[in-house]
Amino acid sequence: MDTFKFIQTLKILTAYFVISILITGCKTPASERPPNIIILLADDAGYADFGFNGSKDLKTPNIDKLATEGTVFTDFHVSGSVCGPSRAGLITGRYQHRFGAEYNENPVPQSEVMISEMLQSNGYKTAAFGKWHLGYKEAHHPNTRGFDEFYGFIGGHRSYFPDKEIKKSGTSMQHNGNYVNFKGYLTDDLGDKASDFIKKNKETPFFIYLAYNAVHTPMQATQEDLALFEGHPRQTLAAMTWSLDRSVGHVMNTLKEQGLEDNTIVVFFSDNGGPRSNTSSNVPLKGTKGTEFEGGHRVPFIIKWNDEAKGNAKYTKLTSALDLFPTFLAAAGITAQPKNKLDGVAWQPYLNNEIEAPPHKQLFWRINPWSALRADSIKLVRAGEFGEALYNLNTDIGEVNNLIAPNKATFEKLVKDFEAWESELPEPTGIGRSPKWEEVKGYMYSDMINNKPIRIHSPGQLKAFKKKLKEAEIK
Ligand code: CA
Repeated sequence: MDTFKFIQTLKILTAYFVISILITGCKTPASERPPNIIILLADDAGYADFGFNGSKDLKTPNIDKLATEGTVFTDFHVSGSVCGPSRAGLITGRYQHRFGAEYNENPVPQSEVMISEMLQSNGYKTAAFGKWHLGYKEAHHPNTRGFDEFYGFIGGHRSYFPDKEIKKSGTSMQHNGNYVNFKGYLTDDLGDKASDFIKKNKETPFFIYLAYNAVHTPMQATQEDLALFEGHPRQTLAAMTWSLDRSVGHVMNTLKEQGLEDNTIVVFFSDNGGPRSNTSSNVPLKGTKGTEFEGGHRVPFIIKWNDEAKGNAKYTKLTSALDLFPTFLAAAGITAQPKNKLDGVAWQPYLNNEIEAPPHKQLFWRINPWSALRADSIKLVRAGEFGEALYNLNTDIGEVNNLIAPNKATFEKLVKDFEAWESELPEPTGIGRSPKWEEVKGYMYSDMINNKPIRIHSPGQLKAFKKKLKEAEIK
């Protein structure tokens, strides 16, 4: 080759090389981008109602597969034992009490930053599907709070089937503020919409908050799913759980088909413990949704994250849904922090074993006046005049043996710790349930602390119940 030809060839090769870099440089390979993040949130699911958490009668093969591919956390807690407060905590990374969202229907104020806002302003495509329940006004709307896409409903529950008439209320389905209807069964529809979003946004990092209304009441399932559980003592719940599992499987399959599985963090959990109303089971935990026993706030939790949470593993240290915010920020490589101090901690150094201590020494719960404090393995439950209890969860996860009498000093110290946490909190922005409901709850706490069957479940029973109490007193 003469010199001229050599130079020409070199020029062509150089041009080809530069063009190749320009073309491939436009698209960062998925593996080099910040990870996608998906929250799969079940609603009111029981602690014991998934195969991976011990269920024998409810079938959840896809969620169980996620559990074997990821890490199951065994001591994971939401920050509120009912829907709205729990969601307010997880989406802000702060105890919801700090901004008054202690009860259902209290909105998350503008003074708080949501994880969606941080991710959106750092290049993520963001979407919320399903239940919102974090405020009804425009200022609280998902599209105002960092979500590019919102397909779902603003309130706390709705039918699983299409509306006959669109009422344009908190129970109506909407897409980015426009009221819409849907076809089929809502749990499937939400999984379909999330899958479409994944396909459309596979070239950018994305954040999906997929908040199913399953398995919250109303108890509704398709005829096909019900037929699979004919004769099951909890037939409708079994069918609703089966469809939840199918929808989760659909989302996971889409991730795999799109080649995104390795660079996506997926978490699955329930927003609070199972209530009596949907026949869910929290065995072996005491209490239900709305109580500060473990059955209210310790929930099944899976994280699939190839870099940090290896497959088929269990993580047993104390963790909280408050931790997701800082964990996701760190995973996305975002060093900026929201203006208000987070209560959660990023899990990376804990999962890497750089730090051996648990992510939390203490966690707090309160739906005033019902409250609880966890300190290492010790749990304090407070129900005012209806009783108090101290349990050692290491040996007594069912919260049966009240240890206050032989552990007075520990009890008093934890009461002080709780009151110190409480002293920093503002007044809740809304009101809780009616005084009658609170009275019912008091009797329920009393029965649970005394390990007795619960005698009263609703305000409608209150009059007859109190009459009986009076008669017993006279005798
Ligand atoms: Ca809930």
